[in-house]
Amino acid sequence: MSRIRKALIWMNLALAVLVIAAGACRIRVNHLVNAESMNIKKTSGIKEVALTFDDGPSPECTKDLLEGLKERNVKATFFVIGEKAEAYPDLIKKIQDDGHIIGNHSYTHVNLGILSKKDACEQIRKTNDVIYQITGEYPQFLRSPFGSTQKNLDCQMNMIEVLWDVDPRDWEVQNKEKVVNKVMTDVKDGDIILLHDGYDSSMLAAFEIIDRLQAQGYEFVTVDKLIFELP
Ligand SMILES: [Zn+2]
Repeated sequence: MSRIRKALIWMNLALAVLVIAAGACRIRVNHLVNAESMNIKKTSGIKEVALTFDDGPSPECTKDLLEGLKERNVKATFFVIGEKAEAYPDLIKKIQDDGHIIGNHSYTHVNLGILSKKDACEQIRKTNDVIYQITGEYPQFLRSPFGSTQKNLDCQMNMIEVLWDVDPRDWEVQNKEKVVNKVMTDVKDGDIILLHDGYDSSMLAAFEIIDRLQAQGYEFVTVDKLIFELP
């Protein structure tokens, strides 16, 4: 086990202890997570992957996507944009009601890495507030647009940053077959798959990926299940 992996386990354990100890207090967490930190925590032997959908909610696609996920009994994680959440609160509520996880993807989809610390925190805080007003829950997870964040960003918010392992660049190719093939080639146990819920091709690709991976014995879980599954 690499030193980085060991460090990540201890960071997760320390986080769990801090969250319990902190109670209502807000603590700083600046923690990047991907599959490298997850595989070692898996104990079940069951192959697991997490589907994540960024940049929504989308008035064109999210409803149909939710329908297809429900039919397949799959829970996913949606990293939503604050201003879109504000515009389509019913979709956010439906994502929550269907049992998916809602994460923060900034308020206007900006590169947090090049903003002032104050403005970057404002993007995150504003989105958290919008999601809270709709769902009654603050999101625990953050995915910075473009995976771009900045060192030592201390927004005094208790959040975990989640990256990804498999990226078929679905927003760029907008082709179901290409997206499916890329994911099926690259995916392995414990991976986080990055898709976007604003494209029909991505939605149809997601359904085919689910059907094919389920046939191979994979289970689809939300990112929290992978991150907090301790040995
Ligand atoms: Zn994005």
